[in-house]
Amino acid sequence: MGQYTKEKQSEKKSLYNNEKRNLPIIVFDNVEKKYHNGVKAIKNLSFQIEEGEFVFLMGSSGAGKSTLIKLILLEETPTSGKIYVNAHNVSKIKKTQVQRYRRSIGVFFQDFRLLEKKTVFQNVAFAMEITGASKKEITEKVNITLSLMGLSGKKNDYPGQLSGGEQQRVALARAIVNGPDILIADEPTGNLDPENSAEIMSLLKMINAYGTTVLVATHEQQMAEEMGMRVIMLNHGHDISKEKTEENVTRKEEVTENQEQTTQIDSPDASNEPVQVEVPVSAINFNASSVADDKNQIVTDSETEVDENA
Ligand code: ADP
Repeated sequence: MGQYTKEKQSEKKSLYNNEKRNLPIIVFDNVEKKYHNGVKAIKNLSFQIEEGEFVFLMGSSGAGKSTLIKLILLEETPTSGKIYVNAHNVSKIKKTQVQRYRRSIGVFFQDFRLLEKKTVFQNVAFAMEITGASKKEITEKVNITLSLMGLSGKKNDYPGQLSGGEQQRVALARAIVNGPDILIADEPTGNLDPENSAEIMSLLKMINAYGTTVLVATHEQQMAEEMGMRVIMLNHGHDISKEKTEENVTRKEEVTENQEQTTQIDSPDASNEPVQVEVPVSAINFNASSVADDKNQIVTDSETEVDENA
């Protein structure tokens, strides 16, 4: 697995800025996760996600999606196999550095909780305050992020005064305000109507267009299909994406052979609708270099894996 860690000495300085390093940003190498009760939630799972990719993690309830996310967030440890995130073997990250590591990953959950007694601005600012960012930087970035989420007019409102869709956008703003390298969205549209779901997916696409790698866990197959992005399909902890692709190819071949039997279905692709952005695109860089110094300290030389012979 040396290919995922070599060159990192020379890359350390640019690890968290937005320079392309042509390394996969997430690598699972033959990972297994067995819980104490004997349930194997993840089995022999190998995949990689390239920097800047938008990937759906799909599978029905119990397929292992949450476990996979917990493994990335270091909330669980694999029973065997290796996980690399941002060119680091995550098992080498020290306990004292876990919080910093987690801050390089924005997380957006279905059951997000906003702080009811804080305004929209304060809710988003809070995510930056805990990183020790300056007041000036917080004001600047929170305003830009709220603007991108179409929430400028709501910044002094309290969560109770917002619609479900608006609250979801505040949660999304909070997840990205620190300029994460990776955004993980777990069932991001679970509680939303189709219109708000399309809006959230559109915003995720926009965030991805700025360079953030996006991983969306969902059981909603239609949503993933409409977006046309790569899918990692889990079934009882196995990746069955390849089998699915082969199935689709076979089906497509069958359809081509029997063209007169096919029916054209116009699928409304609301995700292509433009999102109203109130600031110029060039005004924001989600992989903000101003937080790079802090993040660069996540893994020190002594902890990085030198595995050139692997
Ligand atoms: P999904 O998110 O796709 O619904 P999960 O990762 O939550 O799937 O669960 C995968 C499997 O692991 C399920 O069989 C589930 O019951 C089991 N599981 C999840 N968390 C735990 C746990 N903490 N202890 C024991 N078994 C668990």
